[in-house]
Amino acid sequence: TKWIYDFSEGNKDQKDLLGGKGANLAEMTNLGLPVPPGFTITTDACRYYLEHGDTPPELDQQVIEHLTALEKAMGKTLGDPDDPLLVSVRSGAAASMPGMMETVLNVGLNDESVQGLARQSGSERFAWDSYRRLIQMFGKTVLDIDGELFEHALDEVKREQGTDLDLDLDAEHLKDVVARFKAIVRDETGQDFPQDPRAQMDMAINAVFDSWNSDRAIIYRRRERIPSDAGTAVNVCSMVFGNLGSDSGTGVAFTRDPGSGAQGVYGDYLQNAQGEDVVAGIRNTVPLADLENIDKHAYDELMTTMSRLESHYRDLCDIEFTIERNKLWMLQTRVGKRTAAAAFVIATQLVDEGLIDMDEAVRRVTGDQLAQLMFPRFVSGGDAKQLTQGMNASPGAAVGKAVFSSEVAVQWADRGEKVVLVRRETNPDDLSGMIAAEGVLTSRGGKTSHAAVVARGMGKTCVCGAEELQVDTKAKKFTAPDGTEVNEGDVISIDGSTGRVWLGEVPVEPSSVVRYFEGEIDPESDEADDLVRSVHRILAHADEQRRLDVRTNADTPEDSARARRFGARGIGLCRTEHMFLGDRRQLVEKLILADGDEERQAALDALEPLQRQDFLEIFEAMDGLPVTVRLLDPPLHEFLPDLTELSVRVALAEERGEPDEGNLRLLAAVRGMHESNPMLGLRGVRLGLVVPGLFAMQVRAIAEAACERRRAGGDPRPEIMIPLVGAVQELEAIREESEKVLREVCERADVAIDALIGTMIEVPRAALTAGEIAGSAEFFSFGTNDLTQMTWGFSRDDVEAAFFHQYLDKGIFGVSPFESLDREGVGTLVELAVEAGRAARPDLKLGICGEHGGDPDSVHFFHEVGLDYVSCSPFRVPVARLEAGRAAL
Ligand code: PEP
Ligand code: MG
Repeated sequence: TKWIYDFSEGNKDQKDLLGGKGANLAEMTNLGLPVPPGFTITTDACRYYLEHGDTPPELDQQVIEHLTALEKAMGKTLGDPDDPLLVSVRSGAAASMPGMMETVLNVGLNDESVQGLARQSGSERFAWDSYRRLIQMFGKTVLDIDGELFEHALDEVKREQGTDLDLDLDAEHLKDVVARFKAIVRDETGQDFPQDPRAQMDMAINAVFDSWNSDRAIIYRRRERIPSDAGTAVNVCSMVFGNLGSDSGTGVAFTRDPGSGAQGVYGDYLQNAQGEDVVAGIRNTVPLADLENIDKHAYDELMTTMSRLESHYRDLCDIEFTIERNKLWMLQTRVGKRTAAAAFVIATQLVDEGLIDMDEAVRRVTGDQLAQLMFPRFVSGGDAKQLTQGMNASPGAAVGKAVFSSEVAVQWADRGEKVVLVRRETNPDDLSGMIAAEGVLTSRGGKTSHAAVVARGMGKTCVCGAEELQVDTKAKKFTAPDGTEVNEGDVISIDGSTGRVWLGEVPVEPSSVVRYFEGEIDPESDEADDLVRSVHRILAHADEQRRLDVRTNADTPEDSARARRFGARGIGLCRTEHMFLGDRRQLVEKLILADGDEERQAALDALEPLQRQDFLEIFEAMDGLPVTVRLLDPPLHEFLPDLTELSVRVALAEERGEPDEGNLRLLAAVRGMHESNPMLGLRGVRLGLVVPGLFAMQVRAIAEAACERRRAGGDPRPEIMIPLVGAVQELEAIREESEKVLREVCERADVAIDALIGTMIEVPRAALTAGEIAGSAEFFSFGTNDLTQMTWGFSRDDVEAAFFHQYLDKGIFGVSPFESLDREGVGTLVELAVEAGRAARPDLKLGICGEHGGDPDSVHFFHEVGLDYVSCSPFRVPVARLEAGRAAL
């Protein structure tokens, strides 16, 4: 097996094998860009290692071959005492996992070669600084020593010298640091820091493999849904040095602003520093544009290289580079992460630049990104006090209680509190806190610091580099420039779009994207910004391409009208149960408690005009479009008082000697209707069959409302939907009754209403007997909430809070099946029913109205199985339109 590829052997499409970093280093090498030579050990080798606990037997020989070739190319030998070749050993998985895994720089230095490096570079300081970095990184990463021990030792030397800057330490001081670091290694591991360069390299390689299964890597993968068995590649690359003096440095750059998509020069540069200093946010960087004054030649070459990379990748690239004594070196590139807004703006920019077409632009954005853009934003005003302004690292509006550690963030969020995580800078150990928080605020580090990069990736609000804030995580507080102290638990607001930070809660306003969907912003007008124009163009193209129709789940005229503005073409689910709440509860109680047909009919007669009015308004809002009204679904006792509460009330009244006849009767009824498993009890079509006149009343209200709309010149398109059907006989009985009512109403009104009658498919038996059921149904609408509940036997109201986190932790599934459709299980039932249903009735209309109708992955599935439409809540309608378009490409 070939376990190792030279950088000159691979290309950008081999990410699975070489990891993202390795594949792109190879691509840049082949483009002739200045990449330091090196090689990549494949993810196959990592998987072998993880499986067998040891590297593949041929690996050693292949490392020798590639190292020898590298040494030959560089004219140096690894760790040579006179003129050492040094290498970096870096992780790089197929999916980007920023900061999650390990890197060791300066491998090849030891007590002897450090002298050779000093002579060759002409800088003793540089050589010893590099050596102390190696021991520090190696100690922490490979030998598992607590990194703080090294930091404390370094701080101690700085304190002794009366400085807090690394740069003030000279060679002698750094020799002292090295001696202390070596002592730490000896104390902590019982062994000396390894002096054999090849041993250093092998240990570093294995440490990178091991880091695949570090806690933080596992958390990150789970969140990002990255498969846990993919493994990482290892890149061994000859070192170039940004810490050789003021003519050297290191930086990161984006070819466009990853926050807004605007074109320009974006990035951070740090003079006389080595790689990790920038991303770690440890020292404050200068804007990349300043490099033009520092080193014009290197700057120009970087600009040319960046535009070359952008047109080659046809996308925003992010780049890591180093300048060694005025010579530019490219250390990494990849298609860069970006905010949701930037994703849309960049996609249409690239279309206008002729680099991609509209199909590709639609592929480049996601429904999740669109959903993020619909979140509200801060408005100025209110009585919150602005404390400072930091950098706008990741947009959004976050309000929450300030917390100063990841643990507290997680604890407080678990008990339902909204928190904002405040740190001087974040590191990968803060990941769980960042996930738990509404937003992240740091006082140090630029737009490419860990906090910024990770927050953007998660779509989480982040303000970074708010330097005016004194953050004291030990004392759990920060201090603003005006002396205001903010303690743990105080509410703050942070605006990731402007970088502003306030004490208190700032009011929010709808996003411009929502205002556009609402029709308040004309995309052709000046009021529209780049983002609104991009969203408009991309959605228009998605609409042209998609085959799936998008409807909405709505049961009020307001929601119906909004969903229509958002692009819904009808209602796929109008739940009628809300129409039984509020003042109407009493009527429902009367219906339930009715003693005999007459009382029951009286209750129904009182409810009917109210229902009719509800439908009238909804038909009006959805004029000309289908409105699927679902007959009453939940168990009736949901409309009655709680059994325990009522029992207590009755008992108390009796104790007082004032028994209440009405309540006693009610209690008897509630007892009588009590069910152990109400979700499997008297609900849906079963109610229609058991409670005489109930469904007929609803159908009459629908039919009368439709006739009235028609007489008023409207175009109502009702569809009547029977829930929870498991057997065709259930449906047939209700169908017959409904048709009779429809006929009566139409005849009396002398209006022809053509209402389809169909059913939900939400009981597995219905899916399995869909062929028969289709004989009696003009449409199916998959109720994937109940279908998931009944297929898995998971109570939809309980399991997510009760134990799903454990299922997710154990990897039983990567995402809740209530959130994203379980293709193998529930999806198979859907497919079966689609096939059998269409075979029995070729013009059967097929839709879905469970929560999955607005879930991006599920929309793709529904497209693939050939449904006619998805139906989702109004705010998900644009998301579904976009994903339906993407599914069709
Ligand atoms: C469903 O079960 O998927 C559905 C849409 O109905 P409800 O959520 O009202 O049970
Ligand atoms: Mg249901």
